[in-house]
Amino acid sequence: MADSSQPVPPAPADVEATQAISGGQKIDPWNVSGEVGEDGKVKAIDYQKLTNEFGTSLIDDKLLERWEKVTGHKPHRFMRRQIVFSHRDLSLILDRYEKNEPFYLYTGRGPSSDSMHVGHTQVFDFVKWLQDVLDVPLIIMLTDDEKFLFSEKRTVEEVIGYSKTNAMDIIAIGFDPKKTFIFSDFEYVGGAFYRNIVRFSKRVTYNTAKAIFGFDGSSNIGKIHFASIQGATAFATSFPHIFGADEKRVAGIPCLIPCAIDQDPYFRLTRDAAYGLRYAKPSLIHMRFLDALQGPGSKMSASDANSAIFLSDTAKQIKTKINKYAFSGGQETLEEHRELGGNPDVDVAYQYLQFMMDDDEELARLNREYRSGELLTGEMKNICIEHLQKYVTGFQERRAKVTEDVVNEFMATRPLEWAGNPKVPRA
Ligand code: ATP
Ligand code: MG
Repeated sequence: MADSSQPVPPAPADVEATQAISGGQKIDPWNVSGEVGEDGKVKAIDYQKLTNEFGTSLIDDKLLERWEKVTGHKPHRFMRRQIVFSHRDLSLILDRYEKNEPFYLYTGRGPSSDSMHVGHTQVFDFVKWLQDVLDVPLIIMLTDDEKFLFSEKRTVEEVIGYSKTNAMDIIAIGFDPKKTFIFSDFEYVGGAFYRNIVRFSKRVTYNTAKAIFGFDGSSNIGKIHFASIQGATAFATSFPHIFGADEKRVAGIPCLIPCAIDQDPYFRLTRDAAYGLRYAKPSLIHMRFLDALQGPGSKMSASDANSAIFLSDTAKQIKTKINKYAFSGGQETLEEHRELGGNPDVDVAYQYLQFMMDDDEELARLNREYRSGELLTGEMKNICIEHLQKYVTGFQERRAKVTEDVVNEFMATRPLEWAGNPKVPRA
């Protein structure tokens, strides 16, 4: 419970928070790049190494088996394919689900522009599946304040506008309004949430923020403080309209945060702060990035238009981008490809299919036939184009139906309705 008169236990020297060391690759909330090899080329991101550096755990077969046993659902294709590859304390969430004890899902989006790309929606697609399977409340934070603080150019009015349009994009993923609360920082900060933000900020020194996020004397103080805002969303007491106002009881309700791995530094810090505040520590599941069209050494990025497939792209644009830019793991000539085969591990079209194609056997066939040289780069690209076009068109159809009223419904401060684990009898 927060603000107890009991002395607060010392934070374990910001253990998790400052644990991470960076190797040759650079992954943080602002940069994503593989290691630069001796030949000067950027290597594919090494996710296994990243779990060591960050001090997270790999999601192994044993954990997936437990997932299936406890939830009664086959793990999502992202879990089966190590796209969702790492976690912190996922088993604690499964323990709670087993006993029908409350927890919630928390994810977010920094509304930096109107141009969301298919890299941004992958995590949301996964979160939608989690919401359907687990039947728990979902809280989606729009960090418009962050996008103002971390940019030289954007105005407050501009980022508030992006919050609205990004909320429309997020709603088009298909979330259930009864179980989903979307909020913008500019709108929601205050009350119980602000109390937690301030409690959080009191527990973080400038030195810790510097060590984790790399700030220096020239960083504006808003940036330094921002982690408290992103962190306070991980505390159930920030949402009395959902969990009730009894802080003592609600303090023990944890959340599960599905996010791309670059967001982990924020939540390492949050887990340490939770410990000091006697709040439940958040659990995390981490996703790897959707590669840039140029290859697996960097992620699809909105600021590099040729690196990304945008949700607003036409079928024709998608086809052109894949054919023109998607890095190929195939050989230079047809003869060489037939003889030596291709490498699906670095082939961008195949990588995208790993995210989008649900059929494990069909995917395994593509992998096999590409390696053997039977399947050509052009053929792989065509299959990828079809999947991407279907994905983006489906999104655009749903997005066209999202009205201002629908946004207001999702963003209203109101109670949510959820069932939890239906297999456990309710009291
Ligand atoms: P910009 O190029 O302007 O920085 P961006 O495409 O990198 O834009 P951000 O708004 O910086 O998008 O990304 C916010 C967060 O979204 C990232 O910190 C990451 O967690 C997630 N994200 C962005 N791109 C990808 C991607 N390709 N795959 C998975 N997650 C992504
Ligand atoms: Mg970025």
